[in-house]
Amino acid sequence: MTTYVYDFHQGNKDLRDLLGGKGANLAEMTNMGLPVPPGFTITTVACREYLAHGRVPAALRDEVDEHLRALEQAMGRRLGDPDDPLLVSVRSGAKFSMPGMMDTVLNIGLSDASVSGLARQSGSPRFAWDSYRRLLAMFGRTVLEVPDELFDDALETVKKARGANSDLELDETDLCGLAGTFRTIVRDRTGRDFPQDPREQLDLAIRAVFDSWNGERARLYRRQERIPADLGTAVNVVAMVFGNLGMDSGTGVAFTRDPGNGDQGVYGDYLQNAQGEDVVAGIRNTLPLTALASVDRPAYDQLLSVMATLERHYRDLCDIEFTIERNKLWMLQTRVGKRTAAAAFRIAVQLVDEGLITMDEALARVTGAQLAQLMFPRFAADGRARQIARGMNASPGAAVGKAVFDSRRAVQLAAAGVPVILVRRETNPDDLDGMIAAQGILTSRGGKTSHAAVVARGMGRTCVCGAEEIDVDTHRRQAAVPGGLVVHEGDVLSIDGSSGVVYLGEVPVVPSPVVEYFEGKLRVDGSDPLVDAVHRIMTHADAAARLGVRANADTAQDAERARRFGAVGIGLCRTEHMFLGERRKLVERLILANGDEEADAALAALLPLQRDDFVEILAAMDGLPVTIRLLDPPLHEFLPDLTDLSVRVGVAAATGEAGVDGEVVLLEAVRRLHEENPMLGLRGVRLGLLIPGLVALQVRAIAEAAVIRRRRGGDPRPEIMVPLVGAVQELEVVREQAERVLAEVAAESGIDVPALIGTMIEVPRAALTAGQIAGAAQFFSFGTNDLTQMSWGFSRDDVESSFFSRYLELGIFGVSPFESLDRDGVGRLVRLAAEEGRAARPELKLGVCGEHGGDPDSVHFFHRIGLDYVSCSPFRLPVARLEAGRAAV
Ligand code: ADP
Ligand code: MG
Ligand code: MG
Repeated sequence: MTTYVYDFHQGNKDLRDLLGGKGANLAEMTNMGLPVPPGFTITTVACREYLAHGRVPAALRDEVDEHLRALEQAMGRRLGDPDDPLLVSVRSGAKFSMPGMMDTVLNIGLSDASVSGLARQSGSPRFAWDSYRRLLAMFGRTVLEVPDELFDDALETVKKARGANSDLELDETDLCGLAGTFRTIVRDRTGRDFPQDPREQLDLAIRAVFDSWNGERARLYRRQERIPADLGTAVNVVAMVFGNLGMDSGTGVAFTRDPGNGDQGVYGDYLQNAQGEDVVAGIRNTLPLTALASVDRPAYDQLLSVMATLERHYRDLCDIEFTIERNKLWMLQTRVGKRTAAAAFRIAVQLVDEGLITMDEALARVTGAQLAQLMFPRFAADGRARQIARGMNASPGAAVGKAVFDSRRAVQLAAAGVPVILVRRETNPDDLDGMIAAQGILTSRGGKTSHAAVVARGMGRTCVCGAEEIDVDTHRRQAAVPGGLVVHEGDVLSIDGSSGVVYLGEVPVVPSPVVEYFEGKLRVDGSDPLVDAVHRIMTHADAAARLGVRANADTAQDAERARRFGAVGIGLCRTEHMFLGERRKLVERLILANGDEEADAALAALLPLQRDDFVEILAAMDGLPVTIRLLDPPLHEFLPDLTDLSVRVGVAAATGEAGVDGEVVLLEAVRRLHEENPMLGLRGVRLGLLIPGLVALQVRAIAEAAVIRRRRGGDPRPEIMVPLVGAVQELEVVREQAERVLAEVAAESGIDVPALIGTMIEVPRAALTAGQIAGAAQFFSFGTNDLTQMSWGFSRDDVESSFFSRYLELGIFGVSPFESLDRDGVGRLVRLAAEEGRAARPELKLGVCGEHGGDPDSVHFFHRIGLDYVSCSPFRLPVARLEAGRAAV
């Protein structure tokens, strides 16, 4: 038989699935001997059954009866007793904390009859009426769905009539009158009286908490936070303790350390003569927790000792909710507390130093996403700029620019060198140009899966979305913001994509100290505790990691930076840019060459240029592997645009201009080589097979560069990577050419530079025939960008700005497969290829060079399937290193 109700003595902190976080931790504290009011928890199973069948399971009623009787006995009071009533709270509490999303009702059990009993028993009629009016309003709002404002307005009216600034100044008569008004409001709005039967109150409140799981706010929050929709909430029924019994009573919230920056020492707020949500609702100014020491020293000391006990027990930062009733401390909630990224790092090493956790645990408690947050430039704290709104922190960073309200203006101004912030109600695919041109994007509608958010994250643009207080008027090129302000086109805005805050005016941007540390510009000497913490955790991550982290770097400069950021080599050195710019003419000559002689001349001119590039890169990565990818891009990128050229030739022919002949030849070639679908056309290994001498040129440049490095005493370790292979035969041809050139260079120079020859696995067919391909490859590097693109049939250049936000909304995927590897599909190809490749060639080296190499979840996957390394952009390196370490502990 299912048990639907657990007494606090029966639960523990590991039963969060069943009892919810709040219930599990109330039970844990009870069993630790901490002062928790007695109570019981109705399980999430009961909630799920209720939600599935629309009625409370029959057995639940009996179990609640039984536990209620036990509670009454423990308290020596009966629910509804007119002379001395027991009061309880009915509190929601799901597995994952959903702050403020669901309902809680306090003071259940009061009625017209028992309010006088409570007054007599407590000796404070004011307190009794205060509790009753609170019950009426809370119950009215959450259970009977009476609009909140009606109660608020009535309270304000009484306060005004009495000339009272705060609810503390209202006396017994005022509060009694208010209770009467509240009852009338309930009757008028619902057509029935507030239920006087306490058991009916309890049952209705329990049902309301169950129902609040599917409230609109809760559903939205779950979608944002990716909390499963079918967990349900538990319900906690807790004997009331009273913080509103006078100035020797009160209620507070506290953290065992500062959750903002990780500083040691307790931190919190306290409010005297108050109940429950008063502290967070901001109805009166709270005292800092430390002030409690002078208000009630014994209670303060006890609280501190409880907090220390909790930290030792949970071995982590805890947050708590407590109440003091006539100098007696009661614990009402605790949980391992949320914290900022900086606090996460600092607290993790503090706990190590305090002997509470190991370095492995410290590593497990921070995330790559948190580290990434610490690496964005930040706004300097500066009082001058005015905060005007707050939205969702959709894509991190700090951006400053002039407000513009349409994409055309954004592009115009940006082209003139003016930084802009694109302000829109929401964005759509037509805004793409503007988003690219802008420093940052601000929208007034839409959540973290809105078009603006998805595209901004994809491009690494700062974005704040859903800032609902901003009223955007595109036609008049302005936006109204709270406080009667209007932002016009050209006004400077500063937006903080990490916090969601929007400022009017320019806020100075400062680089992150964590990046300065990685750059080697900041020493680890204890002057910045955050830098210290990051250093210690990174050191441990590197020691723990099995997966190496290389960088994608195309220039010596990038390579140097990558090395400072801890790269153990280059996993992808693209050679495309080495053919662009001024060198493009040479490539054009090569492609259009009329016979071997012309081609050879073009190649001879390119060789030294390429060689010099490689010398520099190999120098920057001396002693570490450098994987150089042979030329990859579609051919048309090297040739003039077909339309432009046609027009030019046409005009020249019409006007009889001289010198047309060359252009006509060129146009023919461009026509011949024009492709409808260049991404699936003549690129990658296909280029090398089609243009004689191209592979040989690149391999020679690499080999000669290595020889030069050797002669200078260096330790060059080039690896030659062939892109876009789909069949082993393609690779075999290229490999033969490459080996021939390597042997030639060795013979000419007398220096033998071994270079591995391998291939990218980025075409699905390559993954499916990996066993064959491994016969000709010494390494595989998974090009997961193209592999994703070709597996899904998604054009990466197009889909992120068109339909991805819709896909995310519909839940077709939770995150873009270009951002985080799709394990079920693309991941399966990678795993298969890794297994079959290794089976064919046990010493095969396996790496990843797509964007996924810097994505935390993907890094864990690559670790698990046994790859040797990931490669990512230099800026993502620390994140990948940290996650590689975390994957291993
Ligand atoms: P939330 O999940 O929104 O924090 P809670 O269930 O924790 O809601 O209730 C909010 C506040 O109500 C608590 O912080 C506490 O101050 C007060 N409260 C809840 N139950 C009791 C109780 N039994 N006695 C006194 N105060 C209570
Ligand atoms: Mg709470
Ligand atoms: Mg590719």
